[in-house]
Amino acid sequence: MNALPGGTADEARAPGTAGPAGGDAQPEGEGPSAVHVRGLVKTYSGVQAVNGIDLDIRRGEIFALLGPNGAGKTTTVEILEGYRSRDSGEVTVLGFDPARQRARVKNRVGIVLQSVGVEQYLTVRETITMYAGYFPQPRPVDEVIGLVGLEDKSGSRVIKLSGGQKRRLDVAIALVGNPELLFLDEPTTGFDPSARHEAWDVIKNLAALGKTVLLTPHYMDEAEYLADRVAVIAAGRIVAEGTPATLGNRELARARVRYRLPGHAAPPGDLAGPVQPDGFTEFTSEDVTQSLHRLTGWAIDTGVSLDGLEVIRPSLEDVYLSLTGAASGDDGGGQPEPARKAHGRKA
Ligand code: ATP
Repeated sequence: MNALPGGTADEARAPGTAGPAGGDAQPEGEGPSAVHVRGLVKTYSGVQAVNGIDLDIRRGEIFALLGPNGAGKTTTVEILEGYRSRDSGEVTVLGFDPARQRARVKNRVGIVLQSVGVEQYLTVRETITMYAGYFPQPRPVDEVIGLVGLEDKSGSRVIKLSGGQKRRLDVAIALVGNPELLFLDEPTTGFDPSARHEAWDVIKNLAALGKTVLLTPHYMDEAEYLADRVAVIAAGRIVAEGTPATLGNRELARARVRYRLPGHAAPPGDLAGPVQPDGFTEFTSEDVTQSLHRLTGWAIDTGVSLDGLEVIRPSLEDVYLSLTGAASGDDGGGQPEPARKAHGRKA
């Protein structure tokens, strides 16, 4: 990305992470929260981008901020990072106010944008070593290379890396300053499935190191797999917050049971249901254990097989779509839109 194009945020920020060496080296900030926000408001010439947000992210937590286009994610995250000013509200990041104590915050956070524009002809090790030199107390370069799984590529030039490997390098650059809190923007967009899973392992590693991670993921499965908690933001407000399993009372939703029957076999009435276009019979159940016991008992007694038998609960994506009202939108299947783009961000 390089530094972000100027003129878009209150202040363009440098790639990678925290500030340069020689800034305020601070003891641990106070308080149990890595991020504490109350009543955050930000308006851009009449556009209410953030409209009274409260947020608490605990230390050591992986937290995902989800929301559709224009919801206010970037604005919120950049206020936390200290790159945008706020109109009102209370914000502390690692115990400091990013607006008034920016140097203290800067040296303790790492920022991973969508792609960091590093020198293409340096090797991986040279690149990380260069960034290590910017920080007062960097992590050892080889340890960082190991954390992001780039051991085999440490002598390769950046230009030769695959997209997934470059993303790891982005994370390495953010990590080398040994930040306490990492902001990770769309960590795996554009990755193939195996690269995504490897990147997820890297992110889980960060949590195991005790880092706090604020993700703005593009994919629901990413939030589901990685996040301890998620918040959904829509029109500048938090509309739901919880664990991926309980968001929007997801765990309380009635399960759907689906199966396909051969021929004209008919199960007991409450275990039957309308036949769907794909040939599956479907019913909802409040007591899935009971229903499955009776259904499978009936199938065994009558000698029929229940092809494709499955129990379905609303996915995180289903809940997200209903919370944001995006189910009928045209935004490419209702995925949350990228929070920040390294290029072409809004002015
Ligand atoms: P996306 O996922 O599309 O990046 P977002 O959730 O990150 O969206 P923001 O970028 O925070 O949303 O934008 C929230 C609202 O504020 C939008 O209506 C946007 O048009 C507006 N906005 C953002 N930045 C500016 C700016 N610099 N000047 C004017 N309006 C802005």
